[in-house]
Amino acid sequence: MEVPLHDVDVLVPKDVTEVLRLLSSRRGFKLLAGGTDLLVQLRSGAVPKSDLIDISGLRELRYVKRSNGHIAIGALTTFSEIAESEIVKRYAPILAEAAETIGSVQIMNKGTIGGNIINASPAADSLPPLYVLDAELKLISLNGTRIMGISDFYKGYKMLEIRPGELLAEVKLRAMGAGEVGHFFKHGLRQGDAISVVNGAVILDLDGDKVRNAAIALGAVAPTVVRAPEAEKVLKGKKLREDVMWEASRAVLKSISPIDDVRGSAAYRREMSVNYLYMTLWRLAKEVGAV
Ligand SMILES: Cc1cc2nc3c(=O)[nH]c(=O)nc-3n(C[C@H](O)[C@H](O)[C@H](O)COP(=O)(O)OP(=O)(O)OC[C@H]3O[C@@H](n4cnc5c(N)ncnc54)[C@H](O)[C@@H]3O)c2cc1C
Repeated sequence: MEVPLHDVDVLVPKDVTEVLRLLSSRRGFKLLAGGTDLLVQLRSGAVPKSDLIDISGLRELRYVKRSNGHIAIGALTTFSEIAESEIVKRYAPILAEAAETIGSVQIMNKGTIGGNIINASPAADSLPPLYVLDAELKLISLNGTRIMGISDFYKGYKMLEIRPGELLAEVKLRAMGAGEVGHFFKHGLRQGDAISVVNGAVILDLDGDKVRNAAIALGAVAPTVVRAPEAEKVLKGKKLREDVMWEASRAVLKSISPIDDVRGSAAYRREMSVNYLYMTLWRLAKEVGAV
């Protein structure tokens, strides 16, 4: 049965300082950004009902900027804005690719990167790109600012290193370098508006067809998004040849621990992880003329 929400108070603060004051008032408010996760969860009863602070209108948290080799994205930036950003397309194209797959146009127009990060689904599509781009999260409260690496932020399934009174203000990524190529991949049960059964992001730093460095992250195959150090190690220092790409793809199995759920079995997810990594490596190898 749907939970009625007519008695929920929705406060609309004028700036971030007012948000932080309200959050510290200990009235158990929840932050409402695009509402594409939260409203569904409140209605279904998955999340206990509480009054809301609507932050969706705070333009000061909605931007994409570039400085000193980094890209800074305000937490309220929507996936449509990320997909269309010239800065993201040029310096973090794998994040633009991921943004384009988030739900439908309606979800992309409302859903924010901050909401995707804090909702903490292991299948969240922005997360594999953020893992391989060494994202740092800026958390602010009346007590000050904390910066945290994305992999330190997730401690387990939906377990986050966020403190009461904190707001996620910004995500900072490294810009991809001149020798780096990469892709995001996503396997859903249909073409559009699908939650990932397996997703991932790959960056290769290449010297011709030789891999100087590799960064690989997968989602929906463990309680949190994971990096795949064994697969990365197979690739490092090697030429992008079919046998190397296959060995690296098989090595991803050492980093993942999928479960059975409504979208697929653990065995299916293992197989898809290997296949999608292989297809992505092959696609990159083809694009750079290595195969
Ligand atoms: C039909 C449908 C399709 C979808 N498809 C996809 C998909 O393909 N891929 C995918 O990854 N997701 C998908 N989603 C999930 C959702 O759209 C995304 O996770 C989205 O990014 C959530 O952002 P939001 O702004 O709507 O967050 P909200 O729902 O407003 O908030 C989510 C959570 O984050 C908290 N929060 C929000 N902003 C902040 C902040 N700045 N600081 C601290 N806490 C904050 C909220 O309190 C809440 O707990 C889909 C959802 C729907 C309904």
